[in-house]
Amino acid sequence: MPRSLIQENSSDLIENIMKIGVIADTHVHRISELPTSLINALTRMDMVVHLGDFHSEDLVNDLKEIADFRGVAGNHDGHIPGLPEKDLIEVNNKRIGIIHGHGCAFPFGFKWGLTTQFEGKLDAILYGHTHSCRNTVEDGILFFNPGSVIGRFPAMHRSYGIMTVEDEISCELITLETKRYYYLNRYIGLASKAVSYCCGLNKSTDSYI
Ligand SMILES: [Zn+2]
Ligand SMILES: [Zn+2]
Repeated sequence: MPRSLIQENSSDLIENIMKIGVIADTHVHRISELPTSLINALTRMDMVVHLGDFHSEDLVNDLKEIADFRGVAGNHDGHIPGLPEKDLIEVNNKRIGIIHGHGCAFPFGFKWGLTTQFEGKLDAILYGHTHSCRNTVEDGILFFNPGSVIGRFPAMHRSYGIMTVEDEISCELITLETKRYYYLNRYIGLASKAVSYCCGLNKSTDSYI
């Protein structure tokens, strides 16, 4: 269950949070389109951070239902109200910047573009947009990109991250099944739902059918 969250001034000071689920570039309508193993993992986190390119406001609301939630707008999220372009999280005296990252690579690369988006010394910057994983420490800042949850091009795998914040701060990259296996499972699931619906076995509908 999410632990205590204390609001203080413009940024949030959050105590005793140890595990943060980090996801990005979902590009789906609802949380039900994400793998069950991922959803189960996120419900065990103290906080879930989404780094943009949700695709729908429904997904934002779904994530708010399962965890303490923070998120930023991606370049595909202009229609979703209430999402900041960037945000700052303070966890156990660590300062973590979160941003989608579109437009940050120009003209001097992501390291420069990301760090200049935030004021003061940061311990970590979490970003998305590239659909490419990154987990490196440069000049004392942890740069972490969890890749795309759905394995969107050019990602070869579906992935997300778990950030652990104690005296030190670190991120673990979690790789899910390959895209081919994921889409095979998804099409089989959709086909079985369609057959059930057409045969009158299941009259309920969801966002897929
Ligand atoms: Zn994206
Ligand atoms: Zn993007």
